[in-house]
Amino acid sequence: MNTHKSEKLFEEAKKFIPGGVNSPVRAFKSVGGTPRFIARGNGSKIYDVDGNEYIDYIGSWGPHLFGHNPGFITSALLKAFENGTSFGAPTEIEVEMAKLISELVPSVEMVRMVNSGTEATMSAIRAARGFTEKEKIIKFEGCYHGHGDFFLIKAGSGALTFGVPTSPGVTKKNAADTLVADFNDINSVKKIIEENKGEIAAIIIEAIAGNMGTVSASDSFIKQLRILCDEEKIVLIFDEVMTGFRVAKGGAQEVLGVTPDISTFGKIIGGGLPVGAYGGKKEIMQIVSPSGPVYQAGTLSGNPLAMNAGFAALSYIKNNPEIYLELEEKSSYLENGMREAMKYAGKNFWINRAGSMMTLFFTSEEVNSYEAAVKSDTSLYGKFFHEMLNRGVYLPPAQYEAFFVSTAHTKEDLDKTINAAKESFLEL
Ligand SMILES: *Cc1c(COP(=O)(O)O)cnc(C)c1O
Repeated sequence: MNTHKSEKLFEEAKKFIPGGVNSPVRAFKSVGGTPRFIARGNGSKIYDVDGNEYIDYIGSWGPHLFGHNPGFITSALLKAFENGTSFGAPTEIEVEMAKLISELVPSVEMVRMVNSGTEATMSAIRAARGFTEKEKIIKFEGCYHGHGDFFLIKAGSGALTFGVPTSPGVTKKNAADTLVADFNDINSVKKIIEENKGEIAAIIIEAIAGNMGTVSASDSFIKQLRILCDEEKIVLIFDEVMTGFRVAKGGAQEVLGVTPDISTFGKIIGGGLPVGAYGGKKEIMQIVSPSGPVYQAGTLSGNPLAMNAGFAALSYIKNNPEIYLELEEKSSYLENGMREAMKYAGKNFWINRAGSMMTLFFTSEEVNSYEAAVKSDTSLYGKFFHEMLNRGVYLPPAQYEAFFVSTAHTKEDLDKTINAAKESFLEL
């Protein structure tokens, strides 16, 4: 596979951009090799600057539920573009967008649009602190909530991949208000609450985690978490930046049947443009400026281009609810094929899947916790990643991420992927 142009660009990029990339995991650091510079995407495929074609399972790390460049989003964008790109004044599409989010995710009675998932989670915590007049928060080891200071404590995703789950640059004071519990272990939460009685403002969780690889909260754990929050007057925040509109129309809360007080969104909600949102109970959200005293603002928040792209994506979901059946069928086909491929090659690795999110953990033991996830052999994953890449299949360049299946993946794509996996497993 010719990668000359990517190699040249990467050398040039490293001179001017830290590590050559604008978000760490893109750099292939944990799997080695040169990141491919992508020229364009179409449907289930992406094409690099050297003209190589890949079946893409990253989907821009989550947003592309319908694959690359779906016509209905492109045309919505072109139409919006003609009227101007930004006004810094309210627009009709923002009202439509808020109503639609509230319709698809009923726990969201009121919502504020922002520009990224990170902004959504940071703002949600501020609102929860303002509302409860308490300061400490609980997060779970291995969960990733963007790069806000107080979230970079035992975080997942790139932070976990690069071995800096707790980042330098985060002050001790900032870190001190973030308490870390164990995912799927309710006693670890109870213990922290006991030790900090009356001081916890919020608990934030990826109820179906994607950033330590795909790991779902157990039924009893998530239900008990809800009860604990009610008893202790703690705001329960589901970080649905990845799972929102992905695992179901109504996100992880619909799948698990537990209602959070606040939800955060990103990725799919922007239809491929930079968008985030946080919303939930009216009584909490009303504390946000200008209806309340908790300040939060954004020059480009609710940007018309972004809103039109996101609105097109969510409208499509509303009008075509059967896509979740389609995604489930395709994803289970891929899962089963991967299992067959492993069997064929005499391998036995663990697969977790939640709808169209799936992770192949390079460990043979069950993965239902952070502790179990980090038993994975990440260097073996790196080898598998490159075997697949050389066969034209683009998986996430890090173990602790999810493969995303889109509606654009065809049976042919899935079969090619499974065949590539068969050959790749044999090479390990
Ligand atoms: C991606 C992600 C974020 C961060 O969103 P950005 O748009 O990258 O800032 C936060 N939480 C979860 C669960 C995510 O998957």
